[in-house]
Amino acid sequence: MKKFKAESQRLLELMINSIYTNKEIFLRELISNASDALDKLHFVTLTDGSEDRKFEIRLEIDPAARTLTVRDNGIGMDEKELEDNLGTIANSGTFKFKADNKTDEELIGQFGVGFYASFMVADKVTVISKKYGSDSAFKWESSGADGYTVSPAEREECGTTVILSLKPDSEDNETDNYLDEWRIEELVKKYSNYIRYPITMMCTSKRKKEGSDEYEDYTELRTLNSLLPIWKRNKNEVKKEDYIEFYKSTYYDMTDPLHYFSASTEGALTYNALIYVPGKAPYDYFSADYKRGLSLYANGVLITEKCEDLLPDYFGFLRGVVDSSDLSLNISREMLQKDRQLKALANGICKRIISEFGKLLASDRETYEKIFSEYGASIKFGVYENFGEKKDELKDIILFRSSSGGYVTLAEYVKAMKEDQKEILYASGRSVEAIAKMPQVEGAVGNGIQVLYLTDQIDEFVMKVIGEYDGKKIAPVGSSAEDKTDGDLKDLLEFMKKSLDGKVKDVKVNSAIGSYPSCLTAEGEVSLEMERILNAMPNGKGVKATRIMEINPSHSVIVKAKELLGVDDDKLKKLTAVLYCEASLLAGLEVDGAEFVRDLNDLI
Ligand code: ADP
Repeated sequence: MKKFKAESQRLLELMINSIYTNKEIFLRELISNASDALDKLHFVTLTDGSEDRKFEIRLEIDPAARTLTVRDNGIGMDEKELEDNLGTIANSGTFKFKADNKTDEELIGQFGVGFYASFMVADKVTVISKKYGSDSAFKWESSGADGYTVSPAEREECGTTVILSLKPDSEDNETDNYLDEWRIEELVKKYSNYIRYPITMMCTSKRKKEGSDEYEDYTELRTLNSLLPIWKRNKNEVKKEDYIEFYKSTYYDMTDPLHYFSASTEGALTYNALIYVPGKAPYDYFSADYKRGLSLYANGVLITEKCEDLLPDYFGFLRGVVDSSDLSLNISREMLQKDRQLKALANGICKRIISEFGKLLASDRETYEKIFSEYGASIKFGVYENFGEKKDELKDIILFRSSSGGYVTLAEYVKAMKEDQKEILYASGRSVEAIAKMPQVEGAVGNGIQVLYLTDQIDEFVMKVIGEYDGKKIAPVGSSAEDKTDGDLKDLLEFMKKSLDGKVKDVKVNSAIGSYPSCLTAEGEVSLEMERILNAMPNGKGVKATRIMEINPSHSVIVKAKELLGVDDDKLKKLTAVLYCEASLLAGLEVDGAEFVRDLNDLI
């Protein structure tokens, strides 16, 4: 008996004693190896001009003998290759157990460990192989870490047969599953559905006996995989219904997706992707439990069902698949390189999503608006994230409600700006209706100026990150207070400021506040809305905006106030308190109700 090489020995021990919950991936590994062997022979026969052959991967279950067999008619291995390839792990590269900080579990799940994965479910593995062009076959056999034997054997055709003698069944080791036709079919569909060679198995079905009502069992050879995946098929040949059906059946969603698109790139990195925008955000989308990600395939073989690294958080609502022929599921290649490839893949996909949304915005506004009203908050988060790293890419696909009625983009806003308008103006509040009634907004809109309505908590932060668009500063509406004031008003402003006793930093005049006598604005970085939002957060308490009260000099209440100055200062003090409370209410802030009611009643 020969000993395994040191590294193989360690991996083998890891496999034999595996507590990995996803043992089923062993089948994916064996099928992938068989597919590679078919690829190799396919290439050779193409170049040496030998006859056409029918490439196939055949699975066989023998419940009595407790064996599962994977047979291929690929390139096969000779005696030396059996030793070199199966006696030494990852011939093609170095396998470093501790090279990175991934746990063993992750390692197995993400990239597989090839042939040795068999030892998670089998206590003996027999490989019979005959190399293409050779007359003799050989048998490799191992019952685990002790070592392996290689001896002459019989095999008609070239190719490889891997026979797994499954471990006895026990509670934590459900090897009986792998003797079950249905279960095997399910595994093939899950992991190897898009391998491009037929994966066949003799399957048992029932049929009616001829001329009788009784049923009988019969067996037939069935192809278990669907060969060419929908994302690799020619777009023009796939109907819209097929894409939608694929979505619904893959993601168990009853609702049609809002949109889907496919993408493929040839060049530095080759991939095919099929991406869907679900009709509704999953109920747990904004919770920590939600698991985002696209399914990652390497050449039709599933590597990870939800690969988080492929999507940024803010596109986490998307679903779909990415299949790249540049990724291999062998860990034999350097991990680092793989991570780099994954990153490049993720970057390419992110760019593609942004450009798709941009195109959709231009060509099918209605659909894009539906997408945005469902997922806009998430997309806007992308602008804000990482100190605005992606703001330039994303700023043209975000929409805002505005005083014009529907949604506008920043570009549309700028295009519609009045000639003498210098800034992009916004107002924030809890709802479109509430904002529309704000004094500053009413004033600006009355003057024919469009105002963006910010209703999402994140909006104002997003505006701060974007800062300006097309050279136009983005600013809150209503800070157009007038500095120059005549004597009369000046005294009134002084009086009011003093009587509000530190509640406001200043009182100013603003003629553009529509039909209201007063309003509140904030000076500096923190707006009134931000104050409200931050104070609602567990660690944001105590944040305070610097308040400015603005008064409308032509409003009858302010005219009255002017008359009271120096005549009945007590009354004016109460009136000032009421004006401040009114302004606070209009800004969506809480006020001291009892005080407000008392002052108001006194005045009446
Ligand atoms: P990997 O596939 O990552 O290289 P494996 O442990 O799965 O590692 O397999 C080791 C090698 O054994 C493969 O690279 C291949 O050369 C050979 N091999 C495995 N299975 C087969 C097969 N069915 N036919 C031909 N060669 C095979």
